[in-house]
Amino acid sequence: MSDFQHEIQRRRTFAIISHPDAGKTTLTEKLLLYGGALQQAGSVRAKKNQRSTTSDWMDLERERGISVSSTVLQFEYEGFCINLLDTPGHRDFSEDTYRVLTAVDSVIMVIDAGKGIEERTRKLFEICRMRGIPIFTFMNKMDRPALNPLELLDELERVLGIGAFPVTWPLGDGPDFKGVYDRLEKTLHLYANQGKGASRAADHVTGADDPRISAQLHPSIHQEWLEQIELLSLAGEAFDDEKVRVGELTPVFFGSAINNFGVQLLLNYFVRHGMPPMPRKSSQGLIEPTRPDFSGFVFKIQANMDPNHRDSLSFIRICSGVFSKDMTVPNPRGGNKPIRLSYPQRLFGQERESVETAYPGDIVGLVSHGAFRIGDTLTQIPDLHYHEIPRFPPEVFSYLHNNTPSKFKQFRDGLEQLLNEGVIQVFYLHNSQQKTALLGAVGQLQFEVVKHRLETEYAADVRLEVTPFTEVRWLEPDTDVEQFKGAYMGSNVRIAFDTDHVPVLLFPDQWSVDYFAEKNPNVPLSKFSTLQ
Ligand code: GDP
Repeated sequence: MSDFQHEIQRRRTFAIISHPDAGKTTLTEKLLLYGGALQQAGSVRAKKNQRSTTSDWMDLERERGISVSSTVLQFEYEGFCINLLDTPGHRDFSEDTYRVLTAVDSVIMVIDAGKGIEERTRKLFEICRMRGIPIFTFMNKMDRPALNPLELLDELERVLGIGAFPVTWPLGDGPDFKGVYDRLEKTLHLYANQGKGASRAADHVTGADDPRISAQLHPSIHQEWLEQIELLSLAGEAFDDEKVRVGELTPVFFGSAINNFGVQLLLNYFVRHGMPPMPRKSSQGLIEPTRPDFSGFVFKIQANMDPNHRDSLSFIRICSGVFSKDMTVPNPRGGNKPIRLSYPQRLFGQERESVETAYPGDIVGLVSHGAFRIGDTLTQIPDLHYHEIPRFPPEVFSYLHNNTPSKFKQFRDGLEQLLNEGVIQVFYLHNSQQKTALLGAVGQLQFEVVKHRLETEYAADVRLEVTPFTEVRWLEPDTDVEQFKGAYMGSNVRIAFDTDHVPVLLFPDQWSVDYFAEKNPNVPLSKFSTLQ
């Protein structure tokens, strides 16, 4: 294997998805401990608490303690080079969160074992499912009263529609949590609850009926435990690495992130079974990561990292070839002037460091001064385009009015720049007299960011107004929208166009989507833009 191939094979680029408070930050910190990045581990928490950080650029953020900046953490573990991409969550949940998932090769899903699958997890999971990437599940907070582990597995199948293979199985929960049994390795890991993780080495046991396991559990609990293990081996999913690789089966681990218990088992398994960078779909078919020509795409733009310089950082996921500082690529926005990829940066928490070389799977931040747009392909391969960034279905909508006619230019230019950065989606209503923009977002905060930035950066004067819409469906790009006039539309359904002039329908609720679909069975409705 060449050095280049080796660099690709040892990379694991992933994100952690979870519902707020399930333990994503805690797990991230523990993973960093194993990566020897201990001294920086605190930066994750510091970022979450948002005292004084680089992303303080926006007053809005500071007022609310919101982090809009996404962090990439790179660390080494047992010969693997791990890129952990932060998925902005909590109140700053936005399309950025979804887009991060287009740049990773696998995902760790953290579930609070006392609560089961929660709403945010389900939404993020859907994007992973769409991309068919491997998903590893960590059932966290086993030191607290948890749902029955069989119920938790059942939920994965029922709610998410993914098969579950428990690699570890818990011995009790809450105050009775004694440890986990590794079903593949036949090892017993006892929980020490000392805040430092499993202080004792794992015991090799003969199997689930080993007396060392029964010694840990009260006889009645042990009996139930044995029945669970029996049931799993009879009725549970068989272990199938191939199904894991295509995202149809999730390996499940139980533990307690805060006590650092079960985390290393997860990490060890993850680096071995997680995916290295894989070929990516493009306008020219699959592009192998080992292809020597450099290629990558922009999945995130972070504006105004530094208020004194008004710079913006474009985050590139490298898909093939070797990235090197100061290389040139054709301008993805057209023209004959190539772009020099200078000032590449690697971000670790709040730290920025210059990058000389990067490989497929890596993320680099490029100081871009508005040169790139979300979804742009940067490559030396002529006419190659990645179509990795779909428009994600907005769930909240708001009208955006320009209050002062004399400031229309500021309004228009500012909005266009924010569109390029992927801050928001915009639709224009069909047959509408007003040139009012209809904003679409996955999180309410996106609207406030738009208003705030238009006012402070572009001196525009704008007003948000509530809309009756909650659902959008894309139509085929060449659909004749005039056919929908009158009958069978349903009330309050509106036709609009996205910024690529693809027609969409806006609905007040799911009921009217279903009604429309029933009345117009031959009109395909898509939750995602069909323009790919
Ligand atoms: P995030 O919102 O998903 O990033 O969650 P955090 O990592 O901030 O955790 C949310 C809360 O749960 C914090 O108070 C953590 O201390 C706590 N927590 C995280 N992991 C565990 C765990 O394994 N057991 C218990 N009891 N609490 C945990």
